[in-house]
Amino acid sequence: MAPYLRSLNPSISLIFFDTKIEFLKGVGPQKAALLNQELSIFTFADLLQHYPFRHEDRTTFHRISGLNEELAAAQIKGRLREWTIVGEGGKKRLVAYFTDGTGILELVWFQSISWFEKNLRPNSEYIVYGKPVFFGGRWSITHPEIDLLTNENEAGGYWQPIYPLTEKLRRKFIDSKALGKMIRSLLEIARPQIRETLPANLVQKYRLISKMDALWHFHIPQNAAWLHQAQRRLKFEELFYNQFRLIKNKLLHKTEFPGMVFGKTALVKEFYDNHLPFQLTGAQARVLREIHADLKTGRQMNRLLQGDVGSGKTIVAFITMLFALDNDAQACLMAPTEILADQHFQGLKKFAELLGINIGKLTGSTKKREREGIHEQLRNGDMQIIVGTHALIEDVVQFNNLGLCIIDEQHRFGVAQRAKLWAKNPRISPHMLVMTATPIPRTLAMTLYGDLDISAIDELPAGRKPIKTLHRYDAHRASVFGFLKEEIAKGRQIYMVYPLIEESEKMDLKDLMDGFESVSRSFPGVPLSILHGKMKAQDKDYEMGRFVRNETKIMVATTVIEVGVNVPNASVMVIENAERFGLSQLHQLRGRVGRGAEQSYCILMTSFKISKDTRLRIETMCRTNDGFEISEVDLQLRGPGDLSGTQQSGLTDLLVANLAQDTEILKAARSSAEEILDTDPNLLQPVNAPIRSHLENLRKEETNWSRIS
Ligand code: ADP
Ligand code: MG
Repeated sequence: MAPYLRSLNPSISLIFFDTKIEFLKGVGPQKAALLNQELSIFTFADLLQHYPFRHEDRTTFHRISGLNEELAAAQIKGRLREWTIVGEGGKKRLVAYFTDGTGILELVWFQSISWFEKNLRPNSEYIVYGKPVFFGGRWSITHPEIDLLTNENEAGGYWQPIYPLTEKLRRKFIDSKALGKMIRSLLEIARPQIRETLPANLVQKYRLISKMDALWHFHIPQNAAWLHQAQRRLKFEELFYNQFRLIKNKLLHKTEFPGMVFGKTALVKEFYDNHLPFQLTGAQARVLREIHADLKTGRQMNRLLQGDVGSGKTIVAFITMLFALDNDAQACLMAPTEILADQHFQGLKKFAELLGINIGKLTGSTKKREREGIHEQLRNGDMQIIVGTHALIEDVVQFNNLGLCIIDEQHRFGVAQRAKLWAKNPRISPHMLVMTATPIPRTLAMTLYGDLDISAIDELPAGRKPIKTLHRYDAHRASVFGFLKEEIAKGRQIYMVYPLIEESEKMDLKDLMDGFESVSRSFPGVPLSILHGKMKAQDKDYEMGRFVRNETKIMVATTVIEVGVNVPNASVMVIENAERFGLSQLHQLRGRVGRGAEQSYCILMTSFKISKDTRLRIETMCRTNDGFEISEVDLQLRGPGDLSGTQQSGLTDLLVANLAQDTEILKAARSSAEEILDTDPNLLQPVNAPIRSHLENLRKEETNWSRIS
């Protein structure tokens, strides 16, 4: 490698980072094969980017007399005395006595006892590290990390990076320390090769440390301050490139895909002037202005509309459709399930009839004869609005002039599905509006949907009574049932929901059946419905129908009712085993009530013993009805990966940044990316050269990666 080291030629630097890992001093073919296999580390670049996921504080030494149970871990310098073997069989363990002069600490090993017996040196000085536990009047650490005291480590004063590893690597003695050493020796020779990846003006503006320093101090932090700066720099870079590419795609789309110009507004006017059933909320009006602005530009709209359940997305969708109809184009709305498609159809039909608009519904269960009629009317343009499920995507569905697609999504539809809808108009891609009732925090939306523009209905229609949410323990079931009886006596209906988690479907079904029995015993003479995923579609429809018609008073169900049920007279939602639901799911379920004029309630039932996280979830539910606020808490609790609920979300690319915490950095990175794409979209200015070459590298890495995996 030596001749390359001082070279400034970028192509040579690339060769350096492409060097196979086995050529690093101290690695060799065997370890290299392990690193390839276990961690997909093939090259120098891969090793440098194998980032620690946390750092342990080894800056100071604790004294045994000063230990406390709150400490997650402590580092202690002292002398090892004697040890003994105690216990039998599975309880057999080696207990060593360790002292720093202020007290005695027991070091306990259940595993590798004979190895420690052979290798521990009595009366030698060591540094130990681990979680101290106080029990029976004594301090102990089980399976501590233990190192002989040397000149190198005796001062402490460092942070130990902890790397993602596998069991197999640990067995072969490649632990975080060993990996850290490899990376250190690589960094020493790589230093002169590491190029800045951000433009100098950004580095200056945000007072970022250089790429080289950042890599160094992320792997080998000198102190907490350097570590912090290293993290900040790497997070910024990561988010900057994430946003840069998303926004670039969005812009490309805008310049490459012209959109129909929807300038005429006759129907919209008529609807506004004569048929608007209520005054729009400020948020609805604002969102419609945002949408209309898109529709006038001549560029194709790609917009995400976020709005909590009940925030009034239907009328926004309908008015958006009118813009299309006003300009001789057709509109379609696609929903994830038949129930939801039907609900949308019913909702839109009410409005459409006022204006004499021809609207239809197409789902998997549409009868052949009817289906053919719809196909024909869509082709010749007689049908102006079509609502449906995935059946709409099928190739046989052709339009005369499709101008607008609205997608109502439960989970994220892929770009591929959007593209299929775009293709339904071969002359010019239809405008696209994606609606979601699961609000997600802005930071997450920017990353997940960075290629869409975002609108939010963050205000509920006036006069809506907020749902009262209460937490009750199972032990208080009798009083809860008493309350339910009162509500039923007032004419209300009730949902009782049981968890359904796929892995233990049988058990859940039993919970549900037991619950159903106990409810029938406690509410003699009250007609009940039951609904769960194992039932035949027609049985489900039958049970649902009875509840909708108010023939049954209590609906005992699993989460299948989560989507698409609208019974305004149902005013109480009881959620059993609420500890087993995620926050967003609880919020979605709660959205089933509060649809009528009456005061609604959501009662969360749990056992007495619940975890800290569960308590926070329940408290959040009891405190607020605001889906955006709830999604923020959910993000903090579960982390971005879980929240996005998908592998291909693009979030898996984030190695250092954490969307739950790095909001400020994300905002700065995004606005920087926007500014650069605005002023120098082709990256021709010399100051932006680092971006150009880094994008090139990223592309190259991705091709390598796709070849490997
Ligand atoms: P979403 O689809 O966002 O869950 P909907 O569009 O179904 O919500 O609206 C929920 C209810 O609120 C409907 O009954 C609707 O008629 C009503 N609604 C919507 N917007 C308003 C408004 N601005 N004022 C009063 N009621 C409204
Ligand atoms: Mg809706």
